[in-house]
Amino acid sequence: MAIDMASKYHSLHLPTHHGDWSLWDRIYDQLTLDDCVGLLVILVVTIAYLSHGYLWDKPDPYHHLWFEKPQARSMVNNLPAQTRNIATKLEERKKEMVIFWGSQSGTAESLAARLSREVNRRFGIESLLADLSDYDAASITDIPVTKIAVFILSTYGEGDPPDNANELWSWVTTQKDVKLNDLRYAAFGLGNSNYNAFNRAIDIVTKSLDGFGARALLPVGKADDAKGSTVEDFLAWQDELFGMLKTTLGYREQNVGYQPTLSAVYNDSVNPADIHRGIPVDPRERKKARGGRLKVYALPLTEGRELFSGSERSCLHLEFDLSQHARLKYKTGDHLAVWPQNPVQEVNRLLHMLGLQSQRSVPVSIAITEPGIELKYPTPTTLDALFGYYMDICGPMSRDLLPSLIQFAPSESSEARLAQLSSDPAAWTEYLSDKHINLGRLLEDLSEDGQSWTSIPLSFLLEYIPPLKPRYFSISSSAVVQPRRVSITALVSHTPINGNIQNQIPGLATTYLARLKAQLAAPGAASDTTSAVQILPPHHLHAHIQRSPFKLPANAAVPLILVASGTGIAPLRAFLAERSRLHRMDRPVGRCLLFYGARSAQNEWLYREEMEEVRRELGQGLFEIETAFSRDPAKDPVRKCYVQDRVRERFGDIATTLLNEGGYLYVCGSARMARGLGKIMDECFAEKMAWSKERYTEWAARMKRERKWQEDVWG
Ligand code: NDP
Repeated sequence: MAIDMASKYHSLHLPTHHGDWSLWDRIYDQLTLDDCVGLLVILVVTIAYLSHGYLWDKPDPYHHLWFEKPQARSMVNNLPAQTRNIATKLEERKKEMVIFWGSQSGTAESLAARLSREVNRRFGIESLLADLSDYDAASITDIPVTKIAVFILSTYGEGDPPDNANELWSWVTTQKDVKLNDLRYAAFGLGNSNYNAFNRAIDIVTKSLDGFGARALLPVGKADDAKGSTVEDFLAWQDELFGMLKTTLGYREQNVGYQPTLSAVYNDSVNPADIHRGIPVDPRERKKARGGRLKVYALPLTEGRELFSGSERSCLHLEFDLSQHARLKYKTGDHLAVWPQNPVQEVNRLLHMLGLQSQRSVPVSIAITEPGIELKYPTPTTLDALFGYYMDICGPMSRDLLPSLIQFAPSESSEARLAQLSSDPAAWTEYLSDKHINLGRLLEDLSEDGQSWTSIPLSFLLEYIPPLKPRYFSISSSAVVQPRRVSITALVSHTPINGNIQNQIPGLATTYLARLKAQLAAPGAASDTTSAVQILPPHHLHAHIQRSPFKLPANAAVPLILVASGTGIAPLRAFLAERSRLHRMDRPVGRCLLFYGARSAQNEWLYREEMEEVRRELGQGLFEIETAFSRDPAKDPVRKCYVQDRVRERFGDIATTLLNEGGYLYVCGSARMARGLGKIMDECFAEKMAWSKERYTEWAARMKRERKWQEDVWG
């Protein structure tokens, strides 16, 4: 701001009582009216900028830069103004291809990133990874015929698009006169056939694009997570895409080699206080949280007990104390997001195979070198923190990483084995059939005489390995009954592969929880923390509360139909505890009919005593349980009994409760069970009440819309 000496308002100056001029007085003396207006404008703009993403809950496109050390932030000043027009962005960045992604859990996003790297590695095609929420959907009409658009989009819930695809969704479903004659596109959808409306989002989007005149370059690819084949489905479609690039569009294959999009530099000079040592700060999780203000808490485990234990699996009831965090609150039906840690032996194995053990505690600074790439990890940090807490190093290996690893193989035999496994899906499946393979185990398995893979750049690992994400558990306690303690119900699987107990597939979070429980039982036992720096006190974990719409009706007198299988009983246990408490307080509570399915009554009937206690307390008139045990040896071994069978038997009561008494239906457990239940309900309404399919569909949709039919289903 220029201070105009000639036009200063001398009358505004005020001498200090000492008779000399303070700095403020001198500035004040020199201010003009224009200066005051200028200052006001700067103040307003600054407040607007700083509050962006806070006051109005808008995502901040530079949010990831919060995780960089201040000296790395200079790049903010060099960033061009962001356009929301995708065609302009493609032109600015000189990219031939745009890969749009719409992702709820991050899988579609990571497949999009893989495709971007592969088209570059194999064809030298420069592509732009585009979060659908970052662009105006209408600007797709401006994409010229010289470019290729790829859509990778997941479907979740009742056939809904991911949140970040909402704008595209409303554009394709509402616009009529769009002309997309120049658009050449390829599309891949991610879905799960256990749910209704399998891959509906990609079907609707591509149907609309075709209707607008766009040209599909190949058939739409679809992944089915119910078969556990998402990555293989994607690779099969990617092969078709690459075939089309060669035969139809005339691209020539070339092996461009690894082109880093970020730099990772060991840097001893950083301030130790700035180093991220493992406290969760995943920028994407924060972005998803309301206003990006995800707050992760260190919670002590205060109680851990086994609900059952068997050779193949056990089930844990775990309670965490919230009393040290006055601001941390939960509501009955919410989820607890648990941030797991990688087991120390897996961290050591991978660091050893990479030859990085001696650098594990040296600070590392990470910076983006390619504009438009989002930083997935906090910086500065250490290898201990990255491998122990931030990177998902225990996830199963997928075949698509193998071709990119070949260039770093330490010997000819490792190179040849990698080349064979990467090009032959059957050989890869066979290879995986008797072992659980993560990156560390693969490198160990393929190395000759324990040779380490020292030429794999750290930047490569940071690009390819996905960040460790929290795992969600339905809270099994009631916020009314125990507001300062939160409990979860976790199933720990010890299922061996091919009968060999050494070859287990350990669930990362559940094994971590089992370790915490063991620590609680034996407080003196050595901690298995991966890092030299303790980031958590003993038997504490990092967690946050994830809000869920799975909620009881405000009026406790409303009757409930509750359907659960296995650990799906968790939130329903909380509902029943709440109703019981209200009953004890002489408040009117509605009737509850619980259908519960498990493998066997002897071992796996979770919270049996508690349920029976609730029944005694509420009385048979207010609470009934119907059970279905699928592997009960006393029952028919051929035909399994599932909760749906009990629902069929009690359909008359259910229909009366839901249709005549304003009752609510709650379903919790596997997606397969929820789907089976929907099918039985449809059949019963048709057989017993002569409803047409349309009438049932319309009624079920309305019940869900009005939140009188709620589901909390996984898998
Ligand atoms: P189980 O695998 O033990 O299954 C529970 C019962 O459901 C068994 O009797 C099983 O029979 C039966 N079942 C299997 N297929 C069907 C079907 N199509 N229709 C009806 N019943 C069926 O359950 P888990 O506890 O291991 O897993 C339950 C599911 O609930 C998981 O998907 C989990 O992610 C989810 N969930 C877990 C929550 C938690 O907080 N822990 C909360 C919400 C959901 P059989 O195996 O003999 O065929």
